Amino acid sequence: MTTTKAQPMEQKKSTTRKKAGSKKTTAAMTDKSFNPQVFEPKWQKKWEEDQLYRSVIDESKPKHYALTMLPYPSGDLHIGHWFSMVPPDTRARFMRMKGYNVLFPMGFDAFGLNAENAAIKDGIHPMKRTFANIERMRTQMKSMGAMFDWEREAISADPSYYKWTEWFFIQLYKAGLAYRKMSAVDWCPKDNTTLAREQVIGENRVCERCGTPVIKKALEQWFFKATKYADELLSFDEIDWPERVKTLQTNWIGRSEGASVIFKTEAGDDIEIFTTRPDTLWGATFMVFSPEHPLVEKITKPENKAAVEAYKAQAARQSDIEREAVDKEKTGVFTGGYAVNPVNNERIPIWIADYVLMSYGTGAIMAVPAHDERDFAFAKKYDLPIVEVIRPKDEVGATHESPLQTAYMGEGVMVNSGPFNGTKVNTEKGRKNPGISAVIDWLEEKGIGKESVNYRYRDWLISRQRYWGAPIPMIHCDVHGWNPVPDDQLPVSLPEDVEWKPTGESPLKLHPTWKNTICPVCGEPAIRETDTMDTFMCSSWYHLRYLSPKYDQGPFDEAEYNYWMPVDTYTGGIEHATMHLLYTRFFHKALRDMGITEGNEPMMQLRNQGMVLAEDNSKMSKSKGNVVAPDMLVNKYGADTVRAYLIFFARWEMGAPWDSQGIEGTARWLRRVWTLFTDSDDAHRDFASFSPATASDETKRTLRRRVHQTLQRVSSDFEQFEFNTIVSSLMELLNEMYKAREAGAIGTPEWAEARDIYLKMLAPIAPHIAEELWTTQLGKPYSVHQQTWPKVDETAAKEDVIELPVQINGKVRDRIIIHAEASEEQIRSAALASETVRKHLEGKEPKKVIVVQKRLVSIVV
Ligand SMILES: [Zn+2]
Ligand SMILES: [Zn+2]
Repeated sequence: MTTTKAQPMEQKKSTTRKKAGSKKTTAAMTDKSFNPQVFEPKWQKKWEEDQLYRSVIDESKPKHYALTMLPYPSGDLHIGHWFSMVPPDTRARFMRMKGYNVLFPMGFDAFGLNAENAAIKDGIHPMKRTFANIERMRTQMKSMGAMFDWEREAISADPSYYKWTEWFFIQLYKAGLAYRKMSAVDWCPKDNTTLAREQVIGENRVCERCGTPVIKKALEQWFFKATKYADELLSFDEIDWPERVKTLQTNWIGRSEGASVIFKTEAGDDIEIFTTRPDTLWGATFMVFSPEHPLVEKITKPENKAAVEAYKAQAARQSDIEREAVDKEKTGVFTGGYAVNPVNNERIPIWIADYVLMSYGTGAIMAVPAHDERDFAFAKKYDLPIVEVIRPKDEVGATHESPLQTAYMGEGVMVNSGPFNGTKVNTEKGRKNPGISAVIDWLEEKGIGKESVNYRYRDWLISRQRYWGAPIPMIHCDVHGWNPVPDDQLPVSLPEDVEWKPTGESPLKLHPTWKNTICPVCGEPAIRETDTMDTFMCSSWYHLRYLSPKYDQGPFDEAEYNYWMPVDTYTGGIEHATMHLLYTRFFHKALRDMGITEGNEPMMQLRNQGMVLAEDNSKMSKSKGNVVAPDMLVNKYGADTVRAYLIFFARWEMGAPWDSQGIEGTARWLRRVWTLFTDSDDAHRDFASFSPATASDETKRTLRRRVHQTLQRVSSDFEQFEFNTIVSSLMELLNEMYKAREAGAIGTPEWAEARDIYLKMLAPIAPHIAEELWTTQLGKPYSVHQQTWPKVDETAAKEDVIELPVQINGKVRDRIIIHAEASEEQIRSAALASETVRKHLEGKEPKKVIVVQKRLVSIVV
């Protein structure tokens, strides 16, 4: 049941309407001018009063959960927000008219750096600023006329929300998915915070938010074991997501198959390495450690110590990206230590080099210069041995006169490889490669290695050394270590009395008393975690909070979950592909394993919008002053015109540079819609006083055909998220309706049908105009938004005539227009009767005339 008071069904015309209609006519006649500034707020108020867009569980209808990414409360709604929200709103409205019970909620991702940085600047508390911004943006959003259900609004910075963000942290902790480790983190010295890998941008490694070069800092922090789900996250079988997003996530996870092999130092310490090429193990002639590898100190000989230390110091100053750069000259130093290659017991030197990172793999690699470009360059530079272990088939046995000029990565057969000489190797990865597969089996049999998979994906660093985030609900006791805050003490609330100083320490740490608490185990004094959570934690579950934002017995009401989840369509920017869109999938899967959520995926269908750029093709930004303010446009044109223009001016998934001139065209279209509906001598108002229907059957048939063809296209475009063509179809149909009106269609049932269908198709795009014309002007039952989406009459939509090409001896010479139902014989005579065809036949009698029904006529002379 919807809670609205409006009647869901359109009433049949009746004689009593005439009176009511006449009254309405007078009102409408006195104000024919298009005045959205008056009727838009009027309808917004009424829709809100009537709770027209309230979405509640209704088992009698299929549900549709349409989720669109929630904004950060930055202060003002910009045109990009409209572009991301309005087209999904039109689609949600379409789905509703199609008979679905639609949930289309909105909220605010309200924690984060911006508010805190602003507080440091001007002393205004982030809470105050954030909630003032939300107030403002909510009002702006309401001016959009979207069907957001504000009863379901969720704000991540509200204690009733972050209580459950904290609770989720504890669940992950209890499930063994949250842990602490010391880690060198990327640190923005300007924002004074840890940055996630994806928040470090470009080769220069600058902070995503402020552009400051990022530095390294070692801190003990909280991580989520996202890597536990790496393999599952690579499967997209159950979801309809764009290929681009799937590829970005796949590459981000970066799975590679191979083997882990244990080498030993001369002192007998194990050195585990991962290689994608175990088939080249016999060609490993040296090893390279990351300068930070824990064994470096132990293996370094006294005479090499100075060089090693100097090299380590120099490497520490560089970023991972600099160190890994492909075009960078590879450098390294010898430690003086040796390892033993387990496959042939060769003694091989151990070097350190900055291109080997502790954070990828094990921080140590075997180097096979003959078959790896980077190792080859390194071996050449430092004069290390190069041993070929794979040769092209026809070169086996041949002797090279000169040493290898480059590393060989192609297929061939194994040589110099003990028991594997003669084994075929192709260019496939992992087990698909016979050489690799055979060696893996052998390593496992010998107990020196095993099949293994390596990932580029890292665990999720959760800790932020900031105030304006959800507190990490953990307590540290000297005796009992880390323990979660007991459930009955949640939420751990942010203290309001904090000082805003750019110290680099969290204001929570500097607060005199906040961190002091008692250990939940022994009751003795203990210290709270003063770090807060990455805001991506808050946004990993906001779609669940929308289900029951006021619920206080859990993060969500199970009945709501069972009805609405999973999200049916999710819309938002592709820039979230490897962050939010991956985190939220991990989160859902982890929760599923704890029995909190159901199903394998939270969001079934994803669609990304493009970006609205500035007119000069640059990115819009406050600092450049090229941001288009929707408020001004709404004041000038009305919300519906802004909505329609945003839908029309670009393909939604592509985006485009803003064109401030273009909106005039859309405004003209909507005014013409208005004029047609307000000027037309409307049939049901007062038949007698207007000219009777004089349209020919042909005119009426054409009108119906155009209406149903448009309906067909518009319906399918809504399904396909192809929004801009919806507006152009409606523009074309309007022209047809003007033509039909000229031809006397008014007063006919075809006209009445066209008018109704037009307004229903317009309703998702221009909800206020459609409502005003439907309810006020035509006197139809409120609300147009509760009408059922019209059905396409396939017969009416069929074209009367078709165009067929006529070929003479294989060349198209003419096109004939014939009735769609014409017989073969009729088509044949029509083709032969064509003047152009007769000219080309030059009086000759055709040998054959073949009619390929509905496709072409072929004449052979
Ligand atoms: Zn920064
Ligand atoms: Zn204790």
